[in-house]
Amino acid sequence: MEWIARNLLRIRDDIEAACRRSGRDPLSVRLVCVTKSVDAAMIRAAFALGCRDVGENRIVDAEKKIAQLADLPLVWHGIGTIQTNKAGRAVHLFQLIHSVHAVHTAEALSRAAERAGKRQEVLLQVNASREPQKHGVMPEEVEAVARAVAALPGLHLTGLMTMAALADDPEEARPSFRLLRRLRDRMAAQLPDVVELSMGMSQDYVVAVEEGATLLRIGSAVFAGAGR
Ligand SMILES: *Cc1c(COP(=O)(O)O)cnc(C)c1O
Repeated sequence: MEWIARNLLRIRDDIEAACRRSGRDPLSVRLVCVTKSVDAAMIRAAFALGCRDVGENRIVDAEKKIAQLADLPLVWHGIGTIQTNKAGRAVHLFQLIHSVHAVHTAEALSRAAERAGKRQEVLLQVNASREPQKHGVMPEEVEAVARAVAALPGLHLTGLMTMAALADDPEEARPSFRLLRRLRDRMAAQLPDVVELSMGMSQDYVVAVEEGATLLRIGSAVFAGAGR
């Protein structure tokens, strides 16, 4: 708990400082604590320290932890690749799904959301760093795919998400983050609801805030040292 408190304090300080440097309102940046490698007790500790948004990669893990933490008013984010055959389960679990990476996934989620009587909020995952092994829509396809996803009746497309390439120097992530912001800004007239930028992890969240991130997905920097 002490470790998590100290980590969160440092992260929140970093976010505020980056906002000040770039003339942003700190309230425009939401911290999503990525809890994929910690158990429910640890999430409870993070909740006690003010974390309200949590992110999970895997459906089975999310189902288990959401059941264990049903007494807390947490907002659950889906940040891992959604398999088409798990779309129905995903729609029941997550308030926001960050990781829509293809039209067929979006169509499956839309059908599942309609069945559940829900309009599912989603982000489109972009492969801004153009890594062949990585999921995500290529930058030149983003506009067309975003239009197709936004037209699906069960979905509400509210932004873009990316993962920068792993690097020792966080500055190396800056071009990917800048590209994501440019792609969003370019679509502003056609798709005014596309406002969120989900970018920045433990290694590079400061750069992400400077480049306009509205959602940070941070795991190890929150929970490091907390007995993982
Ligand atoms: C694990 C994960 C994160 C968090 O990574 P950390 O380096 O632990 O902060 C963010 N986004 C996605 C999609 C992840 O899988």
